[in-house]
Amino acid sequence: MTKALISIDYTYDFVADDGKLTAGAPAQAISERIAQVTQAAYDKGDYIFFAIDGHDEGDTFHPETKLFPPHNIKGTSGRHLYGPLADFYQDHQKDNRVFWLDKRHYSAFSGTDLDIRLRERGVNTVVLTGVLTDICVLHTAIDAYNLGYQIEVIKSAVASLNEENHQFALSHLQNVLGATIIE
Ligand code: ZN
Repeated sequence: MTKALISIDYTYDFVADDGKLTAGAPAQAISERIAQVTQAAYDKGDYIFFAIDGHDEGDTFHPETKLFPPHNIKGTSGRHLYGPLADFYQDHQKDNRVFWLDKRHYSAFSGTDLDIRLRERGVNTVVLTGVLTDICVLHTAIDAYNLGYQIEVIKSAVASLNEENHQFALSHLQNVLGATIIE
């Protein structure tokens, strides 16, 4: 089984107190853990893909414009990784098992070459981490499911705005998408 850990949107705008679209405390609470599981996956030989929201300033054609305040604008510090995960990326970004993908939609597969890069490497299992459990993590899982990947979600390394949304997403991931939920 060849695995890739997909690290989703753990950036200042989604996590920091003054982030533009922050999930706040629940997202900040996983900062040590998300770095730890990423390092552990890397040490084990898994591929690591950072799938990070990236919007163009003033992109009125984007559907999120009507839904959310501007966030993760390209070229701003809002797109920087938050906490010790930033140190991991800093230390390993030149490694050929570590990738950065800009995405425009919730799913890491939408409009990106993630699927083809995973297939090139023989990856059959994606391990999901990051924020938010019920938005970008869930949408990435739905695409992974439709593309035939096995899905694992590390429960202690995903977070949402509130407990209700978090629990709904975990239960959907497990019971509808067949994901293995790992503590
Ligand atoms: Zn966005």
